[in-house]
Amino acid sequence: AGSGHRWLPWAAAATAAAGVVSYTYTGRKSLACEQKPLLVCGSLNADIIIEINRFPKKGETLSARSPDTGIMVPGGKGANQAVAAARLSAGTGRQAKFVCQFGNDSHAFKLEQVLREKEVDIGNCGRSNKPSGQAFIFLEEDGSNSILIVGGSNVAWPKDVNAFAQQIRGASAVLLQREIPEYVNEAVSEVAVKAGVPVIQDVGGEERDFSDAHLKRLTYICPNETELERLTGMPTSTQEEVVAAAKSLQKRGVKNVLCTLGADGAVLVGPDGSVLRQPGIAVPGGKVVDTTGAGDCFRAAFAVAMVEGKPLEECLKFAAAAGAITVSRYGAVPSLPERKETDALAH
Ligand code: ATP
Repeated sequence: AGSGHRWLPWAAAATAAAGVVSYTYTGRKSLACEQKPLLVCGSLNADIIIEINRFPKKGETLSARSPDTGIMVPGGKGANQAVAAARLSAGTGRQAKFVCQFGNDSHAFKLEQVLREKEVDIGNCGRSNKPSGQAFIFLEEDGSNSILIVGGSNVAWPKDVNAFAQQIRGASAVLLQREIPEYVNEAVSEVAVKAGVPVIQDVGGEERDFSDAHLKRLTYICPNETELERLTGMPTSTQEEVVAAAKSLQKRGVKNVLCTLGADGAVLVGPDGSVLRQPGIAVPGGKVVDTTGAGDCFRAAFAVAMVEGKPLEECLKFAAAAGAITVSRYGAVPSLPERKETDALAH
């Protein structure tokens, strides 16, 4: 069923848009041909991770599990995906560009520094007069998390995307999430689709539905099973239910539905109804430490492999390997994998 994916016209178009000539990963710094960058538009957060045994009840005061947590680490869906794309593309000749709105506080300075260190191109970012976005991440002992977000500068975007329209048109693919105003995503997808640039849309971070016009412009929509259930009103407890819900979402115009399933991996439903299943890959070291950023890493890794022109089965395996490595480590940005270790786990 999966082979139908490989030769779809949009896949060829995505590969051509990516500027792929004949590309093999060599691990060396430069390649003969110029690679179009991957572009991520989205949020940047100061993540405050708090390890807990359990949540306090209403009116109760509790201490965190570890007194040493509560330090700030960089995160936000946009930043996670941009750093993942940069790390996973390192040595391939392809750059990751990130467009975000920096805040006006001390967190912003540190966040900017980290993005530069990770070799993310932030040349087209804006700066707002609000504080940086923040995410308070409550991490339980089994590695699961609950997150409370304060929007800050992430919700202070200009009304149009003129300032970086050229970057959208020149990208191999654009990655979008939902921690920024929906009008930004709408405007980005409009410019991208006119330029033939594939758009990959994350679903987490906002409960509202997408407009039909935006859905029609998406090459991939990437919910997890809970988000797919919310979008469609259909159950998603089994993989068969996930496929049925994905197909119902496709009736609204989106081409591909790529649903992540945590430890169970992911399912991709293509425009022709074909289904590819990627089982979860065993977590290196055998212990799930922190699942924060796994979905972001998975989607960025999938995009990296896609614009390199890899077959979809390989894109999924590469993404699952990247996700598995991310959950084996602490934090969002700090846990994102390198290319070499991801290739090694995917093979
Ligand atoms: P996020 O909360 O970051 O938005 P998500 O719910 O969208 O995440 P998940 O489905 O939790 O994303 O994880 C993304 C991918 O990471 C999975 O599809 C899987 O490949 C990998 N992954 C996540 N958890 C595990 C795990 N426990 N074992 C192996 N792989 C995992």
